[in-house]
Amino acid sequence: MTDDDIRKLLVAELAELQALSETSSEARETVVLDQQSVGRLSRMDAMQGQAMAKAAEQRRRARVSMIKAALQRLDDDAYGDCEDCGEPIPAGRLAIDPTVATCVGCASAR
Ligand SMILES: [Zn+2]
Repeated sequence: MTDDDIRKLLVAELAELQALSETSSEARETVVLDQQSVGRLSRMDAMQGQAMAKAAEQRRRARVSMIKAALQRLDDDAYGDCEDCGEPIPAGRLAIDPTVATCVGCASAR
């Protein structure tokens, strides 16, 4: 893959994540604790759903910062080099996750 291909891939995933964050933001709205409109169980369901939506959003945000960092490395012409030791990251590793910033050795040493 060329840097351009990788950039397109990263930008597409970023757009997808941002669209997901927007559509799910409603699910993260504060659960209204209204005893009259919802029973105790459905209120617990709603709170659990909200917690799960929050966790999913946190994972998305972590992924978004990984992608942005990878795009920054592309801009800096540092993409594909290990952040820690500076050695090139094997193409196979980048193919699995194009946002990885370290080689296997450094990742396991962290
Ligand atoms: Zn390394």
